[in-house]
Amino acid sequence: MAIIEQDVLEGVLPDLIALRHTIHSWPDLSGHEMPTANRLLDYLSPFKPEQVHKGLSGCGLAVVFAGNQAGPTTIFSCELDAVPIADRGRVTYRSQVPEAGHMCGHDGHMAAVAGLGVLLGKRRPLRGQVVLLFRPQEETGQGAPVILADPRIVEMNPDYIFGFHNMPGYPLGAVLYRRGLFAWAATDYVFELIGKSSHGGQPEAGRSPAMALSQIIERLENLTAWSGLDPECNDSQAAYAQLGESDHGTTPGIARMRATLRSESDEALKELCRKIDQAVGKIARGHGLQWHGLPENWIPATHSHGQALDLVLACAREAGLHILELDQAQRWSDDFGVLTQHYPGAFIGLGSGSGCGQLHSSDYDFPDEILKSALQLYWRIVTQLNG
Ligand SMILES: [Zn+2]
Ligand SMILES: [Zn+2]
Repeated sequence: MAIIEQDVLEGVLPDLIALRHTIHSWPDLSGHEMPTANRLLDYLSPFKPEQVHKGLSGCGLAVVFAGNQAGPTTIFSCELDAVPIADRGRVTYRSQVPEAGHMCGHDGHMAAVAGLGVLLGKRRPLRGQVVLLFRPQEETGQGAPVILADPRIVEMNPDYIFGFHNMPGYPLGAVLYRRGLFAWAATDYVFELIGKSSHGGQPEAGRSPAMALSQIIERLENLTAWSGLDPECNDSQAAYAQLGESDHGTTPGIARMRATLRSESDEALKELCRKIDQAVGKIARGHGLQWHGLPENWIPATHSHGQALDLVLACAREAGLHILELDQAQRWSDDFGVLTQHYPGAFIGLGSGSGCGQLHSSDYDFPDEILKSALQLYWRIVTQLNG
């Protein structure tokens, strides 16, 4: 059976959509995804997977469906976490958790991968094994590196890893691809400026980091004006800042800040970090402040491998899906880049249509219509590689 029968596909979709809505209602933030992982395990257990690996990098989950003959190990991976944004959506299944919501559409990615599990429950692969890998802490970039170091994943030594991200602004269900670089590298740069607080009536007795902080924010927002770096390949923004404490009558003695830095390659991001580090140090010294800064949550650029991508495109064509080649890499990042640094694989986008807002906007809701495209594509990849 090379293709999924329409009635089988139509039959599993309503239940998957219901699963997606439940996950949407009960989002878990990065590092706290165990309820969602358990929900997925409960959902997939009736299909009697050959193996289940729990506790991958904390809350991660791998569900394995194996064939009787030797063959490749094919991983389909998605993210478990939501983002710390209050859900302002109007759907009946909007988030029931304050300040947390699936505004990146990871609920839909999970439903697609779980749907593949349902199909594998109905028909096992002939050879090798198919692994459904649910990764925690994607939004912070902390999950994938730990998962890849887990002996259970190392032992699998996967032959292929596939994943997708829903992408607003592109035709609904269209397969969006790019040869080589798909998404940029990103990191947080976190630093502290240390001066000296004082009574508000005697500010001259202290050393406030206020002016230094404002100069650094200006630098970050006007990166290319002073750094000489190409704005087409680099970006930096202030993401969070704290100056002093909220007490009455005390001048600030400390400032903390988190900036987001992005570049189109890991090497370029390292260079950007070095430039920001130098700039922060110079400004801090100019104001007589102590300081320290470090990159955190490093997410490498995401690349697709040629052969894996060719397979995805051949399967998409066979499924009759709309295929679009992107002329530019995405300026956002995804920790899928960690996976394809280590193993052959491909990462694509699936169009979310227009009119659904942008990812991470407070009313974003994954369009259920694209689940069908995802399943048609994934099932064809399984039958090509694992029979
Ligand atoms: Zn996101
Ligand atoms: Zn995402």
